[in-house]
Amino acid sequence: MTASQDPRLRQLPSVERVLQQLEAGGHLNGIPRPLAARAVRQVVEGARRRLIDGTAPAEWSPALVIEESTRAVAWSGHSRLTRAVNATGIIIHTNLGRAPLSQAAQEAVRAALAGYTLLEIDPETGDRGSRQTHVEGLLEITTGGEAGFAVNNNAAAVLLGLAALATGREVIVSRGELVEIGGAFRMPDVMAQSGARLVEVGTTNKTYRHDYERAITPNTAMLLKVHRSNFSMTGFVHEVEVRDLVGLGAARGIPVMYDLGSGALVDVRTRGLPAEPTVQEAVAAGCALVTFSGDKLLGGPQAGIIVGRAEAVDRCRRHPLARAVRIDRLDLAALAATLRHYLTPDEAWAEVPVLRMLAADAHELTDRALWLTHQLRNVLEDRAVATCISADAQVGGGALPGAVLPSAAVLVQPGDGAPEAWAARLRERRPAVIVRIQDGGLLLNLRTILPDELDAVVDAFR
Ligand SMILES: *Cc1c(COP(=O)(O)O)cnc(C)c1O
Repeated sequence: MTASQDPRLRQLPSVERVLQQLEAGGHLNGIPRPLAARAVRQVVEGARRRLIDGTAPAEWSPALVIEESTRAVAWSGHSRLTRAVNATGIIIHTNLGRAPLSQAAQEAVRAALAGYTLLEIDPETGDRGSRQTHVEGLLEITTGGEAGFAVNNNAAAVLLGLAALATGREVIVSRGELVEIGGAFRMPDVMAQSGARLVEVGTTNKTYRHDYERAITPNTAMLLKVHRSNFSMTGFVHEVEVRDLVGLGAARGIPVMYDLGSGALVDVRTRGLPAEPTVQEAVAAGCALVTFSGDKLLGGPQAGIIVGRAEAVDRCRRHPLARAVRIDRLDLAALAATLRHYLTPDEAWAEVPVLRMLAADAHELTDRALWLTHQLRNVLEDRAVATCISADAQVGGGALPGAVLPSAAVLVQPGDGAPEAWAARLRERRPAVIVRIQDGGLLLNLRTILPDELDAVVDAFR
């Protein structure tokens, strides 16, 4: 169907008409006009597109545009970047900002944003210093690396490491490790952007030491290992351990870079979880550079961390890209506070929310789920049925793929049979409560709800 064919197109109100109507209805009160106009324009343009390409529903009417605009304008008026309770059971939830910060990290951010900070001033001499001094020592101590450097995120850390060590030269990677992470980050593409040339070796499922060895030329700058952080391979598989890769590199004078992705600084096996390589192991194996995220298993702010040999880290520090991918002061403050917890691993398990959620005892979660069920029954009365059930939680965020954590949940089944509408209402609450829909109900998974958020969850259902 073309534009001239759908007669309803002529009924489509103009942006100005919709705005007037909303204004008359009092829907624009307190909402900045440019934001409201932008929201309405998007709704009207969306409706026009659907009428033109024939995807508008049969029951389409101009009233629908007004209704949609009213909602869009209400949302446009306030920030959506608001506090949320994660009831999904996915601990490192990228759409919810990955890792919630510890109390100490939150306080460090508040202190850093209250005014000016000693970001790049040496307090002893008053001279210009480096912002990296706030994390460098902590990174060396917690990872065992000779040097450490923080950037904007791990994608930037990988890009910088490749650019600093391998531009114009060859980097050898196993075909089984040419991964894609979260859509836009594909190892071959990042490699191309860094100016390094990718040399693929082995097959999808098996790569041996001799595969790397045969690919080495005088132009080889690096052997790269990438942790398959968001999927697992089982069965007929073989990969070269990082220690062996470093051994091969050392014999030929070629540095090894290891992109760990999630980057655990604690051994998660001690809490009954499947093995995840630690940063310390990768550093101790002798890698020139190890890169990982600040907001995955580390449980801190968005950041990319580079640790390893002093000479290699220094080349990253001096590369022109370092300035383009530098970490900002708020993330730096939160990162330093988060790393401080890891000076005492027991403190990290007690204070870092991601680790607390990973380690939470299933019986304790069941107790909390029973308490929440009871509270919700009181609040909901006969509007919905609340049942305490067992459920699984996931680590998420490209860490510990396939690991299933036993958990407890409350299933809230609305009497009106419209769980999606209930979930939408919960998203409008402050804090917003984000749930999963399952079995015709809302599933509230206790593993990702912090104990001090339980009252807010009960409140949201009032
Ligand atoms: C997550 C991940 C990245 C990207 O890290 P960001 O901090 O999201 O930029 C890169 N490599 C691996 C292996 C990852 O798991």
